Amino acid sequence: MLPRSRRLLVAYGHPCESFFTDFRGLLEEKGDEVVRNPERGPQTPYHRSDRLSSERREANPGNSFPVCPLVTGDLDAREKSRMELRMEFRKLGRTGLEVSVLGFGGISIQSISPQEAENLILRAVELGVNFFDTARSYTDSERKMRCLSGKSGLILASKTLARDADGLRRDLETSLSELGRERIDVYQLHNVSRREELEKVLSRNGALEGARKAQEEGLVGFVGVSSHNAQVAADALRTGEFDTLQIPVNAVESHYEESGVLEMASRLGVGVIAMKPLGGGVILPAPLSLRYALSRQVATVIPGMRSLRELEENAETARGWRPLDQGGKEELGRLVESLGGRFCRRCQYCLPCPEGIYIPQALICLGTWKWRGEPERAVLLYRRTVPVPASACSECGACEERCPYGLPVREMLKEAAFLLERG
Ligand code: SF4
Ligand code: SF4
Repeated sequence: MLPRSRRLLVAYGHPCESFFTDFRGLLEEKGDEVVRNPERGPQTPYHRSDRLSSERREANPGNSFPVCPLVTGDLDAREKSRMELRMEFRKLGRTGLEVSVLGFGGISIQSISPQEAENLILRAVELGVNFFDTARSYTDSERKMRCLSGKSGLILASKTLARDADGLRRDLETSLSELGRERIDVYQLHNVSRREELEKVLSRNGALEGARKAQEEGLVGFVGVSSHNAQVAADALRTGEFDTLQIPVNAVESHYEESGVLEMASRLGVGVIAMKPLGGGVILPAPLSLRYALSRQVATVIPGMRSLRELEENAETARGWRPLDQGGKEELGRLVESLGGRFCRRCQYCLPCPEGIYIPQALICLGTWKWRGEPERAVLLYRRTVPVPASACSECGACEERCPYGLPVREMLKEAAFLLERG
């Protein structure tokens, strides 16, 4: 039991600050005294002693020790924190980590300034978000998440596109340095979407071997995988090697659900991180799509967010969210239909293309122009991520035969070439 009366030292800028501020009245009623520590940063006593055991606390009744409900295991306070923030937390599979159902997808902060990114990230913490996802390939996203270093109770995930152990080590060291951390809680092999890639990461001196070594050294907590292909994701799960799986979960890319991979992950105790809940920002309004994703067998849903408005709206949806009712399902169905015929689900079944065109990525760029209305970003993305241009298509038609959604890929690539290759 905790001593009846406590002096609570609250570090300025700590995620618990708003909790204690909001609960000051209630705590003071119980005889607790809330004191705001003007110091800021990880060097404050608050952070240094955040692992104080309850026994030690009991041995020092009345002492002015710091208490953080996110890290001390003071369940009573943690529950209150959750109630106040109204944020639901779920287990991230067998990792045992508890993650907020609304996570923070770090891909989108590439396109905002460092100051805007910091404001957004710290506000997310205040709103109860404790899971942050980034990747080595998201340019400066990791550096922008450096503002989280020194904060307790948060779970940080990053990813590497490396397929061999040496490449993984180089990426991991860069990521740790960019993030300003000594350890990454969840480290995932990024976009393992083809069978050859899965075989490569699993092979001798492959990326998985590198990840295991880093895990033994304490540099990473858990090892996961991300994929854009449901079958390859299922194969990765069957290896039993991965603690987490990051895949798209949204109403448009419903083939993930139909493939049974979510159910398989749940059965195997693999924590699912649901990315692209808004289909890359096109399945709007966001609350409909978030409620769809939250009602699936996932631990956390990580929309990319670029503004405080988007963040506040998503947090509001996540607080006390409910599954879609019949009306909501019908509305979402109409939305999907309106995108339907011409929307690439990124399943990659159309590959390989004999000309070497990375079809899904070319179509994502086309979608960024057409559905998201962001032509400049679409052109930049196209230049950076589509090495063989859409105009190289020889119209053999093989991709269309393989596309389970019957997309007129050749026509779409012509449109992509017309819009994205000018100038
Ligand atoms: S139709 Fe074009 S894009 Fe499709 S497989 Fe053939 S060359 Fe590749
Ligand atoms: S074009 Fe079709 S097969 Fe290829 S990724 Fe898109 S939806 Fe999948």
